[in-house]
Amino acid sequence: MRSHAQVVVVGGGVVGCSVLYHLTKAGWKDVVLVERDQLTSGSTWHAAGGFHTLNGDPNVAKLQGYTIGLYAELERISGQACGLHRPGGLLLADTPERMEWLKMAHGRARYLGLETSLLTPREARELLPLIEEKHFVGAMLDAADGNLDPYGTTHAYAKSARIGGAEIHERTRVTALSCRPDGTWDVATTAGTINAEHVVNAAGLWAREVGRMVGLELPVLAMEHMYLVTDDMPEVIEYNQAHGRELPHAIDFKAEIYMRQERNGMVLGTYEKDGVPWQPRTTPWDFGAELLPPDLDRISASLELGFEHFPAMRGAGIKRVINGPFTFSPDGNPLVGPVRGRPGFWCACAVMAGFSQGGGVGLALSQWMVHGDPGFDVWAMDVARYGEWATRRYTNEKVRENYSRRFSIRFPNEELPAARPQQTTPLYDVMLAEGAVMGDSWGLETPLWFAPKGVEPRDLVSFHRSNDFPHVRAECLGVHQAVGVTEIANFAKYELTGAGAEGFLARLMTNRPPREGRMVLTPMLNEGGKLIGDFTIARAAAQRFMIWGSSQAQIHHMRWFERRLPADGSVRIRRFDQGLTGLAIAGPRSRELLARLTDEDVSNAAFKFMDHRALDVANVPAMVNRVSYTGELGYEIWVSPEYERRLYQEIRRAGRTLGLVLFGMRALLSMRLEKNYPTWYRELRPIYGPFEAGLDRFVDLGKSEFIGRAAALEERKTGGKLRRVSFVVDAADADVLGDEPIWHGDEVVGWATSGGYGHRVDRSLAQGYLPVALAADTSGRRFEIEILGDRRAATVLREPPFDPEGARMRG
Ligand SMILES: Cc1cc2nc3c(=O)[nH]c(=O)nc-3n(C[C@H](O)[C@H](O)[C@H](O)COP(=O)(O)OP(=O)(O)OC[C@H]3O[C@@H](n4cnc5c(N)ncnc54)[C@H](O)[C@@H]3O)c2cc1C
Repeated sequence: MRSHAQVVVVGGGVVGCSVLYHLTKAGWKDVVLVERDQLTSGSTWHAAGGFHTLNGDPNVAKLQGYTIGLYAELERISGQACGLHRPGGLLLADTPERMEWLKMAHGRARYLGLETSLLTPREARELLPLIEEKHFVGAMLDAADGNLDPYGTTHAYAKSARIGGAEIHERTRVTALSCRPDGTWDVATTAGTINAEHVVNAAGLWAREVGRMVGLELPVLAMEHMYLVTDDMPEVIEYNQAHGRELPHAIDFKAEIYMRQERNGMVLGTYEKDGVPWQPRTTPWDFGAELLPPDLDRISASLELGFEHFPAMRGAGIKRVINGPFTFSPDGNPLVGPVRGRPGFWCACAVMAGFSQGGGVGLALSQWMVHGDPGFDVWAMDVARYGEWATRRYTNEKVRENYSRRFSIRFPNEELPAARPQQTTPLYDVMLAEGAVMGDSWGLETPLWFAPKGVEPRDLVSFHRSNDFPHVRAECLGVHQAVGVTEIANFAKYELTGAGAEGFLARLMTNRPPREGRMVLTPMLNEGGKLIGDFTIARAAAQRFMIWGSSQAQIHHMRWFERRLPADGSVRIRRFDQGLTGLAIAGPRSRELLARLTDEDVSNAAFKFMDHRALDVANVPAMVNRVSYTGELGYEIWVSPEYERRLYQEIRRAGRTLGLVLFGMRALLSMRLEKNYPTWYRELRPIYGPFEAGLDRFVDLGKSEFIGRAAALEERKTGGKLRRVSFVVDAADADVLGDEPIWHGDEVVGWATSGGYGHRVDRSLAQGYLPVALAADTSGRRFEIEILGDRRAATVLREPPFDPEGARMRG
């Protein structure tokens, strides 16, 4: 064993081998993979080998598309066959709701450039005669679906990596990891110690154990999973002979079953409702290439349904049953990227679909390591998307929920119940008593809307406008006509202090740091000039700044901030999380309300739009920002949690004669649409530049150097490729949700990022991205946005439909 390497990859499953290959492809040759047993000996060897592009996140779907396209390249480089079969796959819908979901997926596939088509049950049966037609209302065919040989494919990655200069050591276990003062890692193995600049945790079933070696408890858990392989089936042989091709794959949502041809028989696997975690605390190191005892009783309900839906399967003999463990994160997407606070330690784990995602994970991670940026939008896979609240117990509950819903529809207004409530604010029970319907926002219970007396506080899940519609409308109109209060605890909040704080902000953000007592809005860019953050910054004192941003991105942002802190200690950063909480009041009477709660002068002259003040509000020490995402006159009041109940009660009391209403996140998001405000994760993501996103006002190219400035300058010069636009949509009873294709004539020219109903303007609204030339065209060009399979006319809005001059919030 050598004593030094640039990178040590821990784990020789499909993911570790993919990372290794991609590192060599990106030009790093001094890379070593260490495998405890032999390649594939974790979860990889007993996989069913299926692959597909469908994913809830379009960016992950793109990486899945990349993975599938990679196999031909691997075979060419390595000379090793991957055992590819590409018969396509059918997704079978048994209800109109599931069919609507497929229509949405089909629409999304269009802008991802994937080849899908919608079929009637009869057409589906023509392709897969095993189907009993009467159980289904329709299907979608995805031409990219297929399957491969897991062993051959992993070895194709490994051989390609070796050809690229990598070394692989089998039967060598990593036993400990320690960080030297110079930031490099000592990787202790059963064959000696390697000093490395980077370590990649691709340890699959042992990812938790390798994480623990550096003091991390990663949110990952293995579940037992069963599939069976049938004996030869005459129906299969007959079809192959008649058509000269294999049967397509199938996913049956109702039965939670996937199915495909294997030689002259079928493979049938199921994600049962009552899945069983495997080794919930610690994976034994001596677990070899073993299978777990099958338990057909556990999957009998799914099998029974499967036999009804595919009657020929009932008569087929079972050749073998595979029960093996594989890992999941709480939301089912991989955990990829650098770990905050552990420079040089990277994750590539919790990859539950290694043969759909392994290539994309390897590509993204290698680019991140070599170039400092993954080169894609990998937010949905970033290991930084979880906070401290994603404990082992939380992970266990969420992974079981996710497993049981593997093929279930998630409705846009559906909040999943497992592991809740995990975090609550002091107002949780108070707001529940007032009829709040709560949602989960980064592990925190957050009010979505309030059911008036006599109305059940519960969402009826749907792709259409639902039972919350009139109540959200009443909340929006209440804010608009008088004043409303909502809780805004679900923001990220940071405090930046020290002599170097101003310079630090100037270097990280595109806008100038504000003067004392003032606030600015500012994007943050990566080196490539793409959006990686969007913040509100207030200057509380000469050397003290308060920063608010997206809660979901806070570990990601802390990772970014901390790595860039000056070494001289002149800047300190503190993340509050729930150590600071807030209430927002908004509406034309919000100033009057605030005035009733403080003896300070809050007139428009004394407390202007975008001012920041330290005030006593209702006898509570608070920081108050004069800003509102509603587009109305409004204030955000930030306090320590121990004061929140008092502040809330006093606001309620003082607001009684002002027409005060409660409002939730859904009303807030509806009102921001009417102002054309973008939102993080939807309109603002690392695939867009600041000018493309229409944030021109917040990019000061004339100030001192900042990260991404050169690229931003270039984008401004060329105009970029895309432009964020807002639309008014001729919708029926379903609004745009996000990720729908935008049509012009017979062409898909863009995609929607979000949408909803604007109650103050009484219109269905949407935002999305179009190519620059189309967005600039003022000739009254007609666009259409595809909502649940229907193309609805969409007209570009040149200014916000609500209060375009901003008079209401400034007044
Ligand atoms: C029954 C079943 C069916 C499946 N079907 C499919 C399917 O159809 N399609 C699909 O895409 N996926 C499928 N999967 C999932 C797929 O197997 C996984 O996504 C994939 O194997 C994950 O690969 P990995 O490299 O992350 O992990 P693993 O395969 O677990 O690899 C991790 C490797 O790390 C090594 N290791 C761990 N710790 C150390 C250490 N300290 N030192 C050195 N080496 C170490 C292990 O020995 C192991 O070889 C299935 C899984 C199961 C169980």
